[in-house]
Amino acid sequence: MKNIPESANNDEYFKSYEDLEVHELMLLDVERTTAYGNAIRQNEELFKDKIVMDIGCGTGILSVFCAQAGAKKVFAIEASNVAGICEEVVAENNLENIIDVFHGKVEDFQLPADINGVDIIVSEWMGFYLLHESMLESFLFARDNFLNKDGLLFPDTASIYTAPCQLPQMFELWEEYLGVRMTSFRQRLREQKSTKPEIVPLSAEQLLHSGELMSWIDLKTVCQEDVDNISETFFMLSESHGNFQGVCIWFECTFPSSSDQTPITLSTSPGQPATHWKQTVIVLPEISVLTVEPNEAIAYELSIKRNKSTARGYTLQLDQIDADEIDHPIPCDCIMTKCILFKAHLKKLENGQLEDDDDEELEEEQDENSENKETTLRN
Ligand code: SAH
Repeated sequence: MKNIPESANNDEYFKSYEDLEVHELMLLDVERTTAYGNAIRQNEELFKDKIVMDIGCGTGILSVFCAQAGAKKVFAIEASNVAGICEEVVAENNLENIIDVFHGKVEDFQLPADINGVDIIVSEWMGFYLLHESMLESFLFARDNFLNKDGLLFPDTASIYTAPCQLPQMFELWEEYLGVRMTSFRQRLREQKSTKPEIVPLSAEQLLHSGELMSWIDLKTVCQEDVDNISETFFMLSESHGNFQGVCIWFECTFPSSSDQTPITLSTSPGQPATHWKQTVIVLPEISVLTVEPNEAIAYELSIKRNKSTARGYTLQLDQIDADEIDHPIPCDCIMTKCILFKAHLKKLENGQLEDDDDEELEEEQDENSENKETTLRN
């Protein structure tokens, strides 16, 4: 998918898909294209003699996969003029009697009079951090208007994950670059870039935590409003020593499968082979960067909110939370003295070894901490 400008209107959006290099990039994203290819062609049982709709078919590769898997009819719908290339691809694969190409938006499409609905909808609608571009809305429109009861969606679930991360390429790199200290440049560069998330490839080693689920989306039932504003607070314990320099966001999608097949997952996680979506990273301002130890608590609030004026764009907002100032779970495995003591106290309670002194010791320690935390521990 393309990094379309925030302000793009529909015409500009579809125009951006006339650049064939965008399609080349997507087709050559082997993880992406083979995930769809496997999800479709390994499940012939689901596709045999079915009526399929491919929303945003682009060059038509997913429609061809569906025909190869046994679909009796595929409606390939593409708003940009790449629809013309799709027609040619259909012809060179001798599938004109199965795949019908419609050049237009799915919102303007009508099924032939003798067909009431489709059995399967296939679409590659995902943008950066899943929701960028808001093509999901068209996918949901098609689901609500064309999909038969008990019809299938490819993919049928999507999940968004997040984790704190280190970004040596944005911070340490400038400590000494080719023998020159360039931290002042780094600071300005960070300021300049601070209004936009970065789309960069991260390695699993750059994550300070394996990640937490931010949102699990059942595409069969979700409505657009459910994903217009997703906001969650995260509390994680660092799994390694490192610098908390940013927050990484990625997504996964899963596809339906017949009973004898393992469901296919398309993952854009840093631990998985790279895709053209890379990862989305919100970089912290230099002043907020923290060095963390294993089991040190990290907390933040992350929200992904659809823009009202430019409905294809979203605003990502990160609010760092001082992990020392908030309630920790009970018990908590973090390295704060209070949590360590409380855990030891609980253990003694479990073992029936508690003495009066221990209670006092714990209370003293709690007094040193904020009232807020004290309340939590006593609850
Ligand atoms: N299915 C192709 C292309 C995916 S990119 C592939 O897998 O290679 C998404 C495509 O959806 C783009 O070509 C874009 O022009 C098209 N698209 C986006 N919204 C659409 C809509 N509402 N109706 C029809 N096409 C749409």
